[in-house]
Amino acid sequence: MTRQLQATVVTHGGAGGSRDQDDGCRFAANTGLDRLAGGGSALDAAVSAVVALEDDGRYNAGSGSVLCLDGRTIEMDAAVMDSQGALGAVACIQRVKNPVLVAQAITRTPHWLLAGEGAERFARTAGFAIHHAISERQRAKHARLMATLGGSEPATPGVANRAFKDYWNYDTPPAFTPCDTVGAVVRDAAGNFAVAGSTGGSAPSLLGRVGDTPIIGSGFYAGAEGAVAVTGIGEHIVRHLLAHTVYAWIAGGMGVDEAVRRGVDLLPQEIDVGVIAVGREDAAMHSNREMPCAEARA
Ligand code: ASP
Repeated sequence: MTRQLQATVVTHGGAGGSRDQDDGCRFAANTGLDRLAGGGSALDAAVSAVVALEDDGRYNAGSGSVLCLDGRTIEMDAAVMDSQGALGAVACIQRVKNPVLVAQAITRTPHWLLAGEGAERFARTAGFAIHHAISERQRAKHARLMATLGGSEPATPGVANRAFKDYWNYDTPPAFTPCDTVGAVVRDAAGNFAVAGSTGGSAPSLLGRVGDTPIIGSGFYAGAEGAVAVTGIGEHIVRHLLAHTVYAWIAGGMGVDEAVRRGVDLLPQEIDVGVIAVGREDAAMHSNREMPCAEARA
């Protein structure tokens, strides 16, 4: 007989965010737990937690996604995976309200990842409505970014602001002269694991940029021994295959808390990174910046 485990949902609102936003993560974690209590799978729970975060508007995902440098385009990435074989992701998708739901719909196709225009066309075929609302909060964030890019302090650590102008690939000219994300990991009472993540990407970035969030083993991983979600600067995270690295440590017997701490420590201190994970017995969250997060247990 399968031993009953304690159902657990852990959520994050992005490395570099504020603990003032823990309330949205708590609401999302409880939304996931309610979904499990209503008979939903671990994957349904992870997805519903991330939908709650995408709809919140304060996090860089779904309705809160950062505007691209042109001030009007929004490109989003999302991914889902569980320990029973489901895997789906979208990259650079535009004009949908909940990219994580499109990623979940991709689990039913012959593919695991759809990008750009193809992803958006797939979303329409699958019945997702066109959505392109830009809030005042998003506009204000963009204005602040533009001000930073116009100054000498790098908007991305280690990258000269000027690089975004030198390689500019938007239709409109640059408006300057010289990045948070959401995720959920779930363990249900039967010991199934799932992860879901969603982001508006990092800012600043060139058009078409994809970070770690929709890349298996980098931004997310789930298997028979646990589930891991990562947030931070994707260009660095992918080089460490961070989600799978942490998962492999957990699967090898390392405590979840130690595994997430070691994972964060793999990156230099100046690079934002945060990791949340669940294993068979425990769950943990750790980051080298402030990171809104929450854990809910049945
Ligand atoms: N990891 C995301 C990316 O690089 C951003 C984040 O987590 O804040 O696209």
